[in-house]
Amino acid sequence: MTKMESRPHLKPGVVTGEAYKLFVEQAKKEGYALPAVNVIGTNSINAVLEAASKNKSDVIIQLSSGGAQFFGGKGHEDSENTRILGAVSAAQHVHLMAQHYGICVALHTDHAHKDLIPWLDALIDYSEDLYKAEGVPLFSSHMLDLSAEPIEENIAESKRLLKRMTPLGMSLEIELGITGGEEDGVGSEDNLNNPSLYTQPKECLYAYEELSHLGHFSLAASFGNVHGVYKPGNVQLRPEILKSAQDLIQEKYNTSHNPLHLVFHGGSGSQDRHIKAALSYGVFKMNIDTDLQFAFAKKVGDAIKETPQAFIHQVDPETGKPYKKFYDPRTFLRNGEKGIIERLGEAFEILGSKGKTLACQ
Ligand SMILES: [Zn+2]
Repeated sequence: MTKMESRPHLKPGVVTGEAYKLFVEQAKKEGYALPAVNVIGTNSINAVLEAASKNKSDVIIQLSSGGAQFFGGKGHEDSENTRILGAVSAAQHVHLMAQHYGICVALHTDHAHKDLIPWLDALIDYSEDLYKAEGVPLFSSHMLDLSAEPIEENIAESKRLLKRMTPLGMSLEIELGITGGEEDGVGSEDNLNNPSLYTQPKECLYAYEELSHLGHFSLAASFGNVHGVYKPGNVQLRPEILKSAQDLIQEKYNTSHNPLHLVFHGGSGSQDRHIKAALSYGVFKMNIDTDLQFAFAKKVGDAIKETPQAFIHQVDPETGKPYKKFYDPRTFLRNGEKGIIERLGEAFEILGSKGKTLACQ
């Protein structure tokens, strides 16, 4: 981007529709990506918003079905409705608070496999209602992950959802090829020698041909990436696969550079050089979940290790010292939030989004 070109200015808060398209385009144009963080409660949402605001970066907040269920309450026996209402409740919190923190937030849902299609349809129902009332959808984008099904079925269902979502100003994230590793208890740890971990460029072309005229979509293409963090040597990233897919489409349809909006799943534990290569091939979103879970847990663990007695006794049996301020959940949960904020600060740096918020200040 030349200095003369002006950057778009967006209203702080959740971006949808045209604002979301600009949000994605600008990241690709300037060569940065936004971290996408899986949240499970107001603690993690507020920590993400605080980190983004402090770093003057925009950010992507997303809910897995498991995260949404946890947000609604893990103990409710009607898990199906809890994961719908949990996602709605989390989205409402993000809509309200993102404006308050003065940055732009894209609100996504994460992997929805075949059996979670009713979850997506229920959430789109909520977006339709909100769109009728206020002219905006509840979410910026949903993810459909039918990568385990035949590609024809994957794309046919993507088309159906995109036709529902486009009039509401929503985008769809799809997955071609599988992301290895384990997420929400799904997947395996046998990450090497699995050809499905590398998406074929011709599959990306097929998705582009079938979907691009129906609406805005992003693509999680696999280039050896895995969910989770494993010992070195268990993962072989080949981001040049992304370049081959982009080049194939650009040549055939004479599009602009990097026509696909790509998503990097399983970003935790990745080397900087692979991240940088992926960004140059049109990745605008990198999912990091595992590293942030660990950052939160480690800081909570530190707080507990500092005053272990406070997690056994309300009052010290020997000295009579009250431990209230240590076992007050705000103390150790805030510590956990600080862990997320610190680790996310590093992600904004590596992804190049620090200082790049599009929110008008
Ligand atoms: Zn993923």
